Amino acid sequence: MGAEGETALRALPSLSVLLARPLLERLAERHGRAVIVAAAQAAVDELREELRAESVAPNRAELLVRAEALTVRRAREARRTTLRRVVNATGVVIHTNLGRAPLARAAALAAARAGRGYVALEYDVARGVRGSRYTHCERLLRELTGAEGALVVNNCAAALLLALNTAAEGRAVLVSRGEMIEIGGGFRVHEILAKSGARLVEVGATNKTHMADYVRALDATPGEVGAILKVHRSNFVQTGFVAEVELRDLAEMLDRRKRPEDETAAPAAATGATGRSDPVARSEGSAERAPDVALVHDLGSGCLTDVRSFGLPREPTPADALADGADLVAFSGDKLLGGPQAGILVGRKDWIARARSNPLTRALRVDKLTLAALEATLQLHLSGRLDEIPVLDLIGRPVRELREAAERLRTELGGVPGLEAEVVETETRVGGGSLPGALLPGAGVALRQTGRTAGEVEERLRGGSPPLIGRIAEDRVILDLRSVAPSELALLARLVRRAL
Ligand SMILES: *Cc1c(COP(=O)(O)O)cnc(C)c1O
Repeated sequence: MGAEGETALRALPSLSVLLARPLLERLAERHGRAVIVAAAQAAVDELREELRAESVAPNRAELLVRAEALTVRRAREARRTTLRRVVNATGVVIHTNLGRAPLARAAALAAARAGRGYVALEYDVARGVRGSRYTHCERLLRELTGAEGALVVNNCAAALLLALNTAAEGRAVLVSRGEMIEIGGGFRVHEILAKSGARLVEVGATNKTHMADYVRALDATPGEVGAILKVHRSNFVQTGFVAEVELRDLAEMLDRRKRPEDETAAPAAATGATGRSDPVARSEGSAERAPDVALVHDLGSGCLTDVRSFGLPREPTPADALADGADLVAFSGDKLLGGPQAGILVGRKDWIARARSNPLTRALRVDKLTLAALEATLQLHLSGRLDEIPVLDLIGRPVRELREAAERLRTELGGVPGLEAEVVETETRVGGGSLPGALLPGAGVALRQTGRTAGEVEERLRGGSPPLIGRIAEDRVILDLRSVAPSELALLARLVRRAL
């Protein structure tokens, strides 16, 4: 560095001069001195590097102003939470990386209310005695699924772990080779199963599993099998030369094996071919039947509504699984149910009671914020106010509406220099391990800007505040409006204009 550079460095403000600026003093009072000192240090270091690189002689006063502005910016960055709000323009409504289901307003308010004050989490208000946190939401879940009992834990993986541990710790669990799935985010059925303390026994082949495969495994280890696990293939489909055994048929087979020969004379209405699909018959039967082999169904998404009204393929519901004879059904709170992250177990009363008293439940327990939000979401389901649940509202928006919104967005982006915006048709997955193979048609805007690559455009949008998340396809950035709430459209347009 020449003498000129040395002089320039001497023009840099000292840390103490910088920190004595009234604005920074006020910020230090509000946010803590340590944050502002670190930010000021970073700002001075940054300016020093800049001065070393350039050989312009700076003005002392100007440097001080720039150092102050940089300090404010660095301090703001340092204080920024990492769990940032983003605008999801990927088109994927249940986006695992972006927090899955956005909550309904009623659910968010309920969580905020529960968080700000005391709540009767483990307190029986009517009787003035200790209550249980595991009974919240139970009545609602029973009404919505027809189950005898329900239990809420941290997430679906936890619900499955608990179900398997409760039913089969130290024993075997039969799983079809075609259902040994990985959902993503590190969830693999066989690994969860191993952690439950149960032993995996694979049955069938990858593409075909027959009833005889299950029966052979049961016969090979009499009394050793604690559960048969059936897993919903949430994020892939098998086609071609395939076969699987329906839940209903497994339930019937287990029922037949549980009943001694002399009971075959019992009335068919209660125990016969469709006996398991009648919850009353089942609950009566369950009292005298030793619950030896549990039929556990990992349903994943746990859709409580029939999504065929949205033009989507049918997704099995917990009520279907119970009617088909599952003893325990596990599903998520934040997929198609549209609530907070939670794992829900519904099923036979005796199994739910056992799961509730399992010490693992304590480790997997759900907190009051989640329970409050889930309760409010379940109430919306029960009262049929599905359009208030953002996931269902977004999935249900007609393509025509999305196209109109995309047209408006394109018009609003008219003045941005070098920006070419085109309305495009899109197709996206619903996401979050639900509705495997189904694609939702939608619409969005494809952006290209002269002088910038698609990668650069995407990065600038992502660098905004809040960050706008789109996707790149064929050298353009696609902002897919399927996942954008109508109330976010104005913000989205502003973010694009500001970034580009
Ligand atoms: C999504 C999914 C899970 C995991 O659910 P989390 O709530 O994320 O723990 C488990 N099983 C299936 C079949 C799933 O689709």
